[in-house]
Amino acid sequence: MWHDNWLPSGQRATNNYSSRTLSSTGLAWNARVADIIDRDQWCFPSGNTCIQNIWQSINFYPNSLEPDTPIWSLTASGEYTIHSAWDQMRTRKPNNNLFHILWHPLHVPRQSIILWLAARGRLRTKDRLPNITEEDGICKLCRREGESHDHLFFHYGYSKQVWDLIASKANITWPTLPWQELLSWIERRSTTKGNFHQWISFLALSSTIYHLWRERNRRIFTNSGHPPNAISKGILVQIRTQLMESPRRLDIPEIHQRTWNLRD
Ligand SMILES: [Zn+2]
Repeated sequence: MWHDNWLPSGQRATNNYSSRTLSSTGLAWNARVADIIDRDQWCFPSGNTCIQNIWQSINFYPNSLEPDTPIWSLTASGEYTIHSAWDQMRTRKPNNNLFHILWHPLHVPRQSIILWLAARGRLRTKDRLPNITEEDGICKLCRREGESHDHLFFHYGYSKQVWDLIASKANITWPTLPWQELLSWIERRSTTKGNFHQWISFLALSSTIYHLWRERNRRIFTNSGHPPNAISKGILVQIRTQLMESPRRLDIPEIHQRTWNLRD
């Protein structure tokens, strides 16, 4: 009764009460739980009011027909799971909403990886390379300004033209902000549960980042390039393909079915 963790709180009586208090109940120091059960009814010792909390915490009926079973109190089923044990041990950190932008139901893994690097400012843009001359540091897409995350996504010239086309097709009305501020703005407005409009806009974002980065690399390494509207066209085709192939295609609302011409 006093020394085992059989109470619903998972604690034992000796955790919270002194031996003097417990023995004032008149029950022996080695009393058993069976000693306070009479014909499948609890008969808690009366008298000592200060340990009433123990008796009040007991939220089940005694059952002499069933054997005693351990119950894992951290899951609803009472069964042990590694997940619940880990949840109990780990230090919780606030949720990072970037997760929803990257790993939504319509995401394309290789694109989300590039978006993730871009979100962390970890793409190897020229402003991050050591020992680069001013001339080498010029953005290959517009050949006007130095290349940085802010420049590529999507403030200026080439990349802005590409993004504007995608945003208007996908009906995205995000403000024009520097890259990190834009991401925070999107994070603040994205909901955990999500919806197709949100997921399609995240897909459009990751596709655009991915294709701009690929175009930038093509220009650096092969010296060939495409105009902005050719890139936009490629991105739109790819978004449509991704929607067509989604296992949740039939759940996509009518308005998006029409926008992306999904029924052909
Ligand atoms: Zn540029």
